[in-house]
Amino acid sequence: MPTRFDLLIKDVQAVDSLNKFNVQSDIGIKGSKITAVAQGLNKEEASTVIEGNFLTAIPGLIDTHVHLGISSCGFNMLTRAGVTTALDMSGTSQDIAKTALKFGTGITYGTLEAIIPGTNIANNDPSTEEIRQFVENALSNGSYGVKILGGHFPLTPAASKRMVRFCQDNGIYIAWHAGSTENGSDMKGMREAVTAAAGGFLHLPHINAYCRGSFASPPSETMEALELLQENPAIISESYLSPRNGANLICDENGIPKSKIVLNCLRKNNFSEDREGVRAAIRKGFLAVMKDINHETCLIEGQEGVEFFDEQDSKVSGSFDNINPLSSRLLAAAGRRYPANEFTVDALATDGGCIPRNVTLKTGIEFVRMGVFTMQEFVHKACLMPARMLNLENKGHLSIGADADITIFNPQTGKAEFVIVQGRTLLSRGILHSGTPTAFCTDKGLSFYERKNLPVFSVTPNLTRLNRSLNP
Ligand SMILES: [Zn+2]
Repeated sequence: MPTRFDLLIKDVQAVDSLNKFNVQSDIGIKGSKITAVAQGLNKEEASTVIEGNFLTAIPGLIDTHVHLGISSCGFNMLTRAGVTTALDMSGTSQDIAKTALKFGTGITYGTLEAIIPGTNIANNDPSTEEIRQFVENALSNGSYGVKILGGHFPLTPAASKRMVRFCQDNGIYIAWHAGSTENGSDMKGMREAVTAAAGGFLHLPHINAYCRGSFASPPSETMEALELLQENPAIISESYLSPRNGANLICDENGIPKSKIVLNCLRKNNFSEDREGVRAAIRKGFLAVMKDINHETCLIEGQEGVEFFDEQDSKVSGSFDNINPLSSRLLAAAGRRYPANEFTVDALATDGGCIPRNVTLKTGIEFVRMGVFTMQEFVHKACLMPARMLNLENKGHLSIGADADITIFNPQTGKAEFVIVQGRTLLSRGILHSGTPTAFCTDKGLSFYERKNLPVFSVTPNLTRLNRSLNP
């Protein structure tokens, strides 16, 4: 006999920012949808029951800034962190589709393909016609939109502007990691990106990363960043909560790290800007190396880290600690627009995925405890607003009829215990179940995923003014 619910989650503290509740409840799921949110739902009417034991249940986290192409571990790491939908911010869609098929979990993901001079575009000053071709290729290869990776592979200011303009005029989702051949990934770069957007749409990633104190104190830089966003409401943005960064530690034949980010981090913290400095930073625990252990990227420090760095002949990624000042992380997370009282930075993201800083839940809960925002506001920034940014109407809330994407976590530790996507349980008391992810892209990319046998649905990006309302 068919049951009323395929899955019934009993006795959770359910929190939702769209429907404005934070109540003790059960949640009933039929197929891939939420069909009941109420107390006292009958276990006899369900095929499967999850005992919630008064853990907290929220709409699945939606992370609008991750990297899935760096290793095979990203899908696992996101799922364990409670993420049900993610936007990869560099691509390629081709590489990530391969990883998804081989090492995926059943989460939902989209990609933005980055424009990289010398790789997928001839040089750093492409014409509008070259940009048009790049964008067309990216979309037909499954990308939801495109990205300028200004901090790593900058374009000239004029070409960056052409690209933003082209995307705005053609309804293409565009993100710009601020920075150009003229300006760095800092407040100068942010001002340049904001000016180039000229009052139109732009996704400006990781606001906190521009406010590390290059020109003024981190709090005053963050205040300026918030002011720029307030004045440019068509720009959408996120910030992350981790103190850590991620960078490639590879050294050239003279033993000098190739990455400018690595050199900066070493110099600012009084380590020599060479292989020896990298070793010393790892030994002291200021820098950790990334090592994949059982499909999770772990951070290794101290002597063990130095040995791994040497073993790999510097060809290893690393993560510096305390690169993102707490003051800018806090202000970017807490800042409000006036007079509306809506959050200035729209969403919480991680810039994580394969990079082990998927801490939205863990650190977000600490911020709730500190009073930076309420639990409902946390859900607003981590679930509903990201869904609105990506135009995923059925996600980010626990309404009847919404996608059954639910993260159930321990409110004391911020640890995800259960992760449910489209009614399927991907994580159950710490045990991860593999599965095939579902991709989202524009109409133009559907056949790309169909050819690869990856489930897919299409979404039309909404580049009009974002609904930031804290009210339904
Ligand atoms: Zn990133």
